[in-house]
Amino acid sequence: MNSRSILAIIDLPSGELDETGRGLLSFAGRLSRFTEGTWGATTLAEPAGEPLGQFASYGTPEITVAAGADALLDTPVLLGRCLAELAKERGAGIVLLPHNGLGSTLAPVIAATLGAALQTEVTSARMADGTLHLTRSALGVRVAEARTWAGDRPLVITVPLRSLSQVLLPSVQPATPAVSRWQVPTVDGATSRVMERIPPDPQTVDLTEAEVIFSAGKGCDSRTYAQLQELCRLLNVSLGVTRPVYDLGWCGFERMVGQTGRTVTPRFYLALGISGSMHHVGGIKDSRRIVSVNSDPKAPIFANCDEGFVADLGEILPRLLERARQSTGGVQ
Ligand SMILES: Cc1cc2nc3c(=O)[nH]c(=O)nc-3n(C[C@H](O)[C@H](O)[C@H](O)COP(=O)(O)OP(=O)(O)OC[C@H]3O[C@@H](n4cnc5c(N)ncnc54)[C@H](O)[C@@H]3O)c2cc1C
Repeated sequence: MNSRSILAIIDLPSGELDETGRGLLSFAGRLSRFTEGTWGATTLAEPAGEPLGQFASYGTPEITVAAGADALLDTPVLLGRCLAELAKERGAGIVLLPHNGLGSTLAPVIAATLGAALQTEVTSARMADGTLHLTRSALGVRVAEARTWAGDRPLVITVPLRSLSQVLLPSVQPATPAVSRWQVPTVDGATSRVMERIPPDPQTVDLTEAEVIFSAGKGCDSRTYAQLQELCRLLNVSLGVTRPVYDLGWCGFERMVGQTGRTVTPRFYLALGISGSMHHVGGIKDSRRIVSVNSDPKAPIFANCDEGFVADLGEILPRLLERARQSTGGVQ
């Protein structure tokens, strides 16, 4: 084992590198600068289309395609053992996974098979005095806990999705990755294969899983609300509402966002005609980016967003809708 060598396990939904994958590459590249070691990525599916260019832009030096891994996706214990074998063959000292359903299931299996230390929900890492210092969430997300890793045995790390930034750091040097294949051994007990992965429909996906949400507040009237519904359909975006809008009976309870409704964590939340009460903001504060539009410059939402626009929905929604119709050809 080379304690400074990092292996990032990248799931490729539909063969493509998604936001989580890009964030993990970015995290791995940054970590390797601290450890001053090598790093590489292992994909759980054959890359489709042009994802290699994206791996290159994140400076990924090596990619190992774990051929046949998709056949084991529903038997994570078997898959985890195979990935541990691969990590051992590659001499990886650190195995990196996202803290999502798959990553958090695989991580303990890989750690147990390798006899490795396991650190889950690591939000940041730094090197001090030759020792890796990790910060992780504990007790829910209320407490940050600092741990150190001396490198005497392998380490398996999961990173929460909210800590994965796909932003390319200026210091990242694009690299042409060396691609190799590693055949996952046929294992007794593999019961089925994944034939197809169907991405979630933003119109029906549970809001807690939604990537982009446009939400309507009381500042919407029936006309602007109908425009917003069409905008969401055209742009494939999930629709949310505040409690007063739910109370009007315009949508089901599952669309309501906030303390009584859904707690959401999209990468983009657009608040339209929403004042920003604590009952609503409490349910959106972990969104990656919040943009709000309100006609009142003193609306409290402006203190709780990344970007705010003072504007009348009656003016801007028809314009946004027109642009969306033009760019999508008006159909979805
Ligand atoms: C126990 C409890 C639990 C609650 N749980 C929830 C919850 O889960 N979710 C939730 O949302 N609320 C919840 N509420 C209600 C919450 O307190 C607020 O009343 C609610 O969030 C306000 O919704 P709003 O921002 O849509 O409406 P308002 O507060 O009425 O705000 C409307 C905003 O629209 C702006 N506006 C008006 N016209 C326009 C226009 N033409 N263009 C642009 N902007 C315009 C106004 O300036 C205003 O800021 C709860 C309340 C209680 C007591």
